[in-house]
Amino acid sequence: MFDNEISAWVRRRSTWLIGLAYLTAYVALDWASYVQPFGPFGVTPWNPYTGLSFVLILLCGPRYIPLLFVAPFLADLVVRHLPAPLPAGLLLWLVVGAGYSAATLALSKGKYDFQIRLPRLYDIWILLLVATSSTVFVACLYAAILASADLIAWRDFFVAALRLWIGDLIGIAVVTPFALLVATGRRLKLTWETLAQFIAMCAALWAVFHGPAMPQLYRFYLLFLPIIWIALRSGLPGACTGLVITQLALMFVIEFLLPGSVDTTTYQEMMLVLTLTGLAAGGVVMEREQAEYRLRLQQEAHARLTRLGSINELSAAVAHEINQPLSAAATYTRLLAEELGERDFPIADARESAEKANTQVQRAAAVVRRLRDLIQTGRIEQSTVEMSELLNAALEVVKPELQRAGVSIVSQVEGDLPRVTVDVLQIEQVLINLVRNAYEAIEGAGYSSGTISVMARRSTKGEPEIVIGDTGPGFDSEQIANPFTPFHTTKRGGLGMGLSLCRSIVEAHGGRIWLANGPQGAEVHFTLQDRNSPPP
Ligand code: ADP
Repeated sequence: MFDNEISAWVRRRSTWLIGLAYLTAYVALDWASYVQPFGPFGVTPWNPYTGLSFVLILLCGPRYIPLLFVAPFLADLVVRHLPAPLPAGLLLWLVVGAGYSAATLALSKGKYDFQIRLPRLYDIWILLLVATSSTVFVACLYAAILASADLIAWRDFFVAALRLWIGDLIGIAVVTPFALLVATGRRLKLTWETLAQFIAMCAALWAVFHGPAMPQLYRFYLLFLPIIWIALRSGLPGACTGLVITQLALMFVIEFLLPGSVDTTTYQEMMLVLTLTGLAAGGVVMEREQAEYRLRLQQEAHARLTRLGSINELSAAVAHEINQPLSAAATYTRLLAEELGERDFPIADARESAEKANTQVQRAAAVVRRLRDLIQTGRIEQSTVEMSELLNAALEVVKPELQRAGVSIVSQVEGDLPRVTVDVLQIEQVLINLVRNAYEAIEGAGYSSGTISVMARRSTKGEPEIVIGDTGPGFDSEQIANPFTPFHTTKRGGLGMGLSLCRSIVEAHGGRIWLANGPQGAEVHFTLQDRNSPPP
């Protein structure tokens, strides 16, 4: 409960210094707020020094409790020159000291889980609850002692108790939250809006006391407007600052500008309602801000997790995409080794195999680089090509594998197709993936032969569309329902990344991709933008 930074600050300062500062401030505040007292006693309608006692114990710890008994004695001595006889006086100081020691101890001992930074609305309510019960206790006993010692008449008991209760409670409600927030570094930020709010407070005060003839107390409601305004915009620090300013201004007006013409206690009753409203509104706003802050943290954590997830996907994608050129490179290097071992060493063939192996390794490197770019930034390197060029280049890569597997391939490009602006390597990669999937499906189903068709045409919407169809078993229903789920595979050693990567690439080009089961087997359709369309 007790804040570490504040306890370090308190430890750095000597106990004597803090004690002396508290006693001096207590007496000074009592002197300044000695307004409309009941008789010659400290029964006044505004007692900010009670709030100060709460601040001392909550911020500096329970070892200052003895000062809570000394302070009322000192104030009576300096401000009122000990108006009560010694036995009654002793009892009065004891009641004040004991009442507020018990209250502040209850808060600072952690019994109610009270936090001095007031992070929750709960902390404000618990502070007000403890303040209300302790002030009722102190005010009633104080007035009873005065009446028992014949210092006031018993018929005045209620008035005196009410005045003291209001004074102490409002002293705590206005001073303590404000001081706790300032001490824990949550001050109101000064902006043009806060200046406007301050002006609104002054205007409301002027209207309450000097406006056109109306019952003045009735116009007190005007003071709610700037307090609600500041509480809604600046939360609890705003509400507390506004309340301190309003209270100071109210007492200044009553004491110096209209001395003796208004009943301070009645205004303080209204001020109490204003204080409760302001604190509640500020607390609610503060809780909402904290909920938003927590939500932001959760969203950031979620985004971090998602990024980690895509690192996972990136590695799987890289593994998937470089597998093909690397196995081609392996084939060529194996061929090269065989050629080198032949008796009449075919130097031209060996050079060709080495060059082909090199091309495939370069391709693997380029695939990795482009994939990384695509997944990290969504960037693509565009050039404008004929559709037939695109298909031929991709099919050239897969043809040898297909021939070995006994799968034939046919391609067809409709005559009036426009040129397309694409990242050639990436679209080739899509085509290679889809054709390989097709032949793996035919092979995987145990068919001894099969056909793959690659057709470029216009879609029903007029965009260039490519359809890769095969005579394999077709997609299963789960694949059609969740077509691009990463890591979904039915192949031994499959990664389940091919289709999801194809979708990323096609969508990065502004196209669409979908799966279907045609009359013969599986069909994958994807569209591209033509050269005249704006780039994605
Ligand atoms: P992988 O090829 O590593 O399994 P893909 O994402 O490319 O990953 O494919 C996911 C799954 O979709 C495959 O395991 C297969 O079950 C199914 N599939 C893909 N293409 C075809 C096709 N042409 N015919 C039938 N099923 C296919």
